[in-house]
Amino acid sequence: PLATLKDPSLLKTDALINGQWVAGSRRFEVSDPATGQHLADVANLGAADTEQAIAAAHAAWPAWRAQTAKQRAAVLMKWFQLLNEHADDLARLMTAEQGKPLAEARGEVIYAASFVEWFAEEAKRVYGETVPTTDPTKRYLVIKQPIGVCAAITPWNFPIAMITRKVAPALAAGCPVVIKPAEQTPLSALAAAELAQRAGMPPGVLNIVTGDSTQSVEIGKVLCGSDVVRHLSFTGSTEVGRILMQQCAPTIKKISLELGGNAPFIVFDDADVDSAVEGAMASKYRNAGQTCVCANRLYVQDGIYEAFTAKLAEKVRNLKVGNGFEAGVQLGPLIDEPALAKVEAHVADATAKGARVLTGGQRMGERFFSPTVLADVTPDMLCSREETFGPVAPVFRFKTEDEVIALANATEFGLASYFFSRDIGRIFRVAEGLEYGMVGINTGLISVAEVPFGGVKQSGLGREGSHHGMDDYVELKYLCLGDL
Ligand code: ADP
Repeated sequence: PLATLKDPSLLKTDALINGQWVAGSRRFEVSDPATGQHLADVANLGAADTEQAIAAAHAAWPAWRAQTAKQRAAVLMKWFQLLNEHADDLARLMTAEQGKPLAEARGEVIYAASFVEWFAEEAKRVYGETVPTTDPTKRYLVIKQPIGVCAAITPWNFPIAMITRKVAPALAAGCPVVIKPAEQTPLSALAAAELAQRAGMPPGVLNIVTGDSTQSVEIGKVLCGSDVVRHLSFTGSTEVGRILMQQCAPTIKKISLELGGNAPFIVFDDADVDSAVEGAMASKYRNAGQTCVCANRLYVQDGIYEAFTAKLAEKVRNLKVGNGFEAGVQLGPLIDEPALAKVEAHVADATAKGARVLTGGQRMGERFFSPTVLADVTPDMLCSREETFGPVAPVFRFKTEDEVIALANATEFGLASYFFSRDIGRIFRVAEGLEYGMVGINTGLISVAEVPFGGVKQSGLGREGSHHGMDDYVELKYLCLGDL
């Protein structure tokens, strides 16, 4: 699939440290989840290389910080343009190593680039404050300064967007970065880094350290343990987030965590059924259900339950599953065998406890899972407690608003939530009652660069995107001018 790149020089397999492509002494294999086909051998770096990347970033910091915000914004805007210009090639690399349908991959590239544009603009608006004095001989000022070297550890489900969402604000604020992309999807990350180089990113300002799953652990330990790294941003599982948080404790590192979700998707009797079905399709089956904001539990009110499940099952039955490079495919493969095994286990557990399979329910060959709708799902089933991360929609039945808010909140997670209703009073009551960082109301798609993305409870710390997304990358400094 990579033979058709318009610009073959975007296929990078070496890591990037201090503006140099680094081959390393070992390589690891990257393969296509749709076919199992070998795609490339990528530099398998370790602890010493990570130290070098951190040192390069540290050395690059003074000059990068000293540029004006407008100068840094110009480099970011150039990167934004290049990401857009090369969207087709970036999408091909992404579909090849990640599996999502080509159109969806292209959509991610545009979304990923939008963070670079947004933070290029925000770079110029990192305003300080003057505080009214309480002492006539003094004046109080607050300035914002870049925090220092930043590390980013990113997942495979959004191979470019999870990088730009973290590094664009860091770079805009004046911080150099060291990125550890997911071992499944380094090619998208390296191509994006190549474009950053072409945009004029000075050596050492943007570094990428690649490694397989074993080396990722070693790289992570160095990034977390370093005294030079002042901030770590991670998107991935809650389990790994907890490990990284512990590893960051000795150096009192600032951290941003975007962790797992267990999104409720609630449909009230007064909702527009067709719109709710559309919302469920968009939220549930995007990226074959492998996003942290995918609807994981669908709660549908008694009066509308049969109509909703029937319409949803019909739409889901018509989804086209296959290799993301084939025209018209809407659902690609799952990322790997453990992902398939988890989805299969959730379906088996639900059916053993009485759930009805309305459509799907099984593997399709070695790498795909048929898009599934389960009815009569109950809270004792695994899929109600754990994130399935696959194309399975379990539909629960509920009676009252209070009951469903309690059910929706009965989880340690709190990332995205969704509900459909046309009653304005209910819209405010439910939106305020849901213990989640984000609420989609009458929509299944909520994420754009301009708004704060993030979770509460064990779904994470901090917000990415929006003007708040810059906060993690700057420190406040209070200046007290006396003797006036
Ligand atoms: P997912 O379930 O999405 O694969 P993970 O949390 O396992 O999420 O992985 C997300 C990112 O974290 C990947 O880049 C992976 O290499 C990295 N990672 C996984 N385990 C560790 C660890 N112990 N230390 C540092 N990084 C890790």
